[in-house]
Amino acid sequence: MTDNDLIQESPGAARVVSRSDVLVVGGGPSGLSAALAARRMGASVTLVERYPYLGGLASGGMVLVLDDMHNGDEVTVTGACMEMIERMAKLDLCMYPPVEERGASEALYRKWARWGAFDFRSQMKPPPIVMAAAFDPDGWKRVANEMIAEAGVNLRLHSWFSKAVVQDGRIRGVICETKEGRQALMAETVIDTTGDLDVAAAAGAAFSDGSYIVTTVFRLGGVDTEEAERFERESPEEWAKLDRAAKRLMGGSWDKWWLKTPLPGVVWCNCPHMIGLDGIKVADQTKADFEGRKRIYALLDYARASMPGFRNCFVVDVAPQLGVRQTRLLQGEYVVTKDDVMDRVHFQDTVARGRDYYTPYRSMLPKEVEGLVVAGRHYSATEAAQKMSREIPPCMSMGHAAGVAAALSAQSGTPLRHIDPAQICKHVRAQGGDPGDRPSANATFLEKAA
Ligand SMILES: Cc1cc2nc3c(=O)[nH]c(=O)nc-3n(C[C@H](O)[C@H](O)[C@H](O)COP(=O)(O)OP(=O)(O)OC[C@H]3O[C@@H](n4cnc5c(N)ncnc54)[C@H](O)[C@@H]3O)c2cc1C
Repeated sequence: MTDNDLIQESPGAARVVSRSDVLVVGGGPSGLSAALAARRMGASVTLVERYPYLGGLASGGMVLVLDDMHNGDEVTVTGACMEMIERMAKLDLCMYPPVEERGASEALYRKWARWGAFDFRSQMKPPPIVMAAAFDPDGWKRVANEMIAEAGVNLRLHSWFSKAVVQDGRIRGVICETKEGRQALMAETVIDTTGDLDVAAAAGAAFSDGSYIVTTVFRLGGVDTEEAERFERESPEEWAKLDRAAKRLMGGSWDKWWLKTPLPGVVWCNCPHMIGLDGIKVADQTKADFEGRKRIYALLDYARASMPGFRNCFVVDVAPQLGVRQTRLLQGEYVVTKDDVMDRVHFQDTVARGRDYYTPYRSMLPKEVEGLVVAGRHYSATEAAQKMSREIPPCMSMGHAAGVAAALSAQSGTPLRHIDPAQICKHVRAQGGDPGDRPSANATFLEKAA
């Protein structure tokens, strides 16, 4: 079979199952934040998700540390992200260092490093402990459900977006594949939070093909984390040898390949790293599952046999969702560059932020389609810039701005690209978010960014 081997399908019809002011496609971190923000603006909101739970990579992909949300001592991402953290913490399903335990010292590092709460970009030794939160994936699903229900969002799980309904250059709704057949969901404004730009790409927006490491994230249970940490501390050279061997078996991982989770004896393994795979190609997705599991089971055998603290460990689960970091990237009204992120460029139309960098509203707007705004890891950025600005908190910050913008547009009839960024910031602030409109002291101002 070749790419030219095609059959023609009949167009068919789809039952309209929802009409709302704002339609959010994709129930990951940015979609959750967008739906809540739009609903809290008083808009009617429908949220569509292909899987039977909310969370996207955060829960289904088991990406279990919320980071990139601090600028030194300053916590830069608030809004729905902090609400999730606080609500999960109340259930003992989220851990983060309290203010008085953030800073640089051996003792603090020893206490918090294996929770992933250290500044991984710092050159200091040891790196400072900063605001970051380790959470439980089911905790995310539970709290997200509660928040969506409390807000009165019309949630439709098990609904797989397949087609954009576009008329005269404007998106009017989407088609989803479901067990009941094809369904149409119509709206005044649509927010694409699929992570892979499914909606915008289908609607005719320009994009580039990004790619990055792919990971089958997993958790190990039955780990004696105290014993493992003691061994690392007391026998650093022997530990380093075993750790290197473990990483070799996985064919690549970050420095700390296991981190603690709120569940005793259960550790989060953000590995193995697999390269050269396209996160939206079925053959590559399938290959990633086979290759990832092979490496996980090789590591399991090795850890049981050789690593103190891991003698009785077992695989709790491999994340149901493949860990895809980057695929299609919007080529929108502005394309954020690596220099913008590195130099902390503050834009006149900043509406969201991450650690110490800022997101212009233009990077969430496709050039070619009206009525559509995007938020999350597929926003308009170069590949290099996205790698540095795609963590969960900044995606939620973008979602917040998109939700507000979509509601303002639907309610006023003003096209999305004419919504005033200052108005978006005002409403994001009123909802407890930080849209980045008040730049931190280390921001850069460039004429070209205006
Ligand atoms: C292995 C790995 C490790 C990472 N480590 C960290 C980390 O330590 N800390 C951190 O903060 N970030 C980390 N990240 C980045 C972070 O997880 C993502 O960038 C973030 O989750 C993106 O959020 P999103 O809402 O844009 O997209 P996603 O989380 O991908 O959510 C997209 C949602 O849309 C749904 N969807 C997609 N297509 C369709 C469709 N056609 N129809 C209906 N629904 C659809 C998906 O099911 C999903 O729920 C990591 C990512 C990976 C893959």
